[in-house]
Amino acid sequence: MIALDPIGTVRSCFGEKFGIPRQPGLCPSAWGQLVFCDAYRSPEAVRSLEGFSHVWLIFGFHETADQGWKPTVRPPRLGGNQRVGVFASRSTFRPNGLGLSLVKLEGVDLTSPDAPVLLLGGLDLLDGTPVYDVKPYLPYAEALPSATAGFARDEISRLPVEVDDAAAADFQNLSERARGVLREVLSLDPRPATQMADAAREFGASLCGCNVRFTVSGGICRILRIEKAEGSGLNA
Ligand code: SAH
Repeated sequence: MIALDPIGTVRSCFGEKFGIPRQPGLCPSAWGQLVFCDAYRSPEAVRSLEGFSHVWLIFGFHETADQGWKPTVRPPRLGGNQRVGVFASRSTFRPNGLGLSLVKLEGVDLTSPDAPVLLLGGLDLLDGTPVYDVKPYLPYAEALPSATAGFARDEISRLPVEVDDAAAADFQNLSERARGVLREVLSLDPRPATQMADAAREFGASLCGCNVRFTVSGGICRILRIEKAEGSGLNA
């Protein structure tokens, strides 16, 4: 039995669960920071980490942890209607509620007031996620080009994303990186499987400090409006 104590918290461009990609790397523009808790906030503890391009994060699915787990889950990959074992999945509903993500380490900020802060890219984590450990990614041992991936073997499909005239000015005012987040996230079609049929329906996703209103119809995602919103994720 070991007790886990968060070493820090992730701040990210994802203000709510809805819209977060299902794995890291699917939205390469996504950004975030790991801010260490006082007890672990030490430049010594991250010495030589800057030489690594990617790190593993072990974190808590804190927003869903109280919902427990079941032995089988229905992965979105299988259309949400076939069951696989929880241990054959990356479901958030699992014993101990621990997540594992391989993310880009874009830098180690040693000068911010909260230094050291890890600058992260491509992550799939909600703003406010507690982190339990950080480990460098070791390509010599962990890059496995011959690996197979069972029911998750197929490439992820993407939708084209268009920006309506009513949203064009606000879209242009976002940073290039934030525009990338919106495009990449929406191209993955974040709509819940149960609401896919309703083409007229408008959705909102909390991305990069904005509430992004969109629809999907005829296989195209359209951004309708972009509203500034408090608590909707780390801004550019
Ligand atoms: N790469 C991780 C996460 C996969 S599940 C792993 O394999 O363990 C990815 C989903 O986790 C995202 O789509 C998002 O909806 C959800 N998520 C991210 N951070 C979360 C958090 N702090 N609490 C609950 N769910 C979270």
